Amino acid sequence: MYSQDSISGHRRGRREPTPEMLAGLACLICGTDYRSAPDAEAVVVAHRDDKQLLACRGTCARMAGASVDGLDETPLPLAERVRAHGSPPAQDA
Ligand SMILES: [Zn+2]
Repeated sequence: MYSQDSISGHRRGRREPTPEMLAGLACLICGTDYRSAPDAEAVVVAHRDDKQLLACRGTCARMAGASVDGLDETPLPLAERVRAHGSPPAQDA
């Protein structure tokens, strides 16, 4: 089976980062959502539009082009990132 994407020459292996990734709320590489994975250790691996892009310490950080420990920079606290992202958690008022 061939998907429409693969036969039309779409570039493979490079997905667009999700808004969560761009907001530093999810790993740039594996997509782990740090809001729901409080044990994941996120490190700063890149910047985009003055925002930190995060990946899990280790393999993900390496794949993102940084060292396993990321850049020499401390990520913003998760709460700050969530607030900057501006999307309130789904909840009924
Ligand atoms: Zn990851």
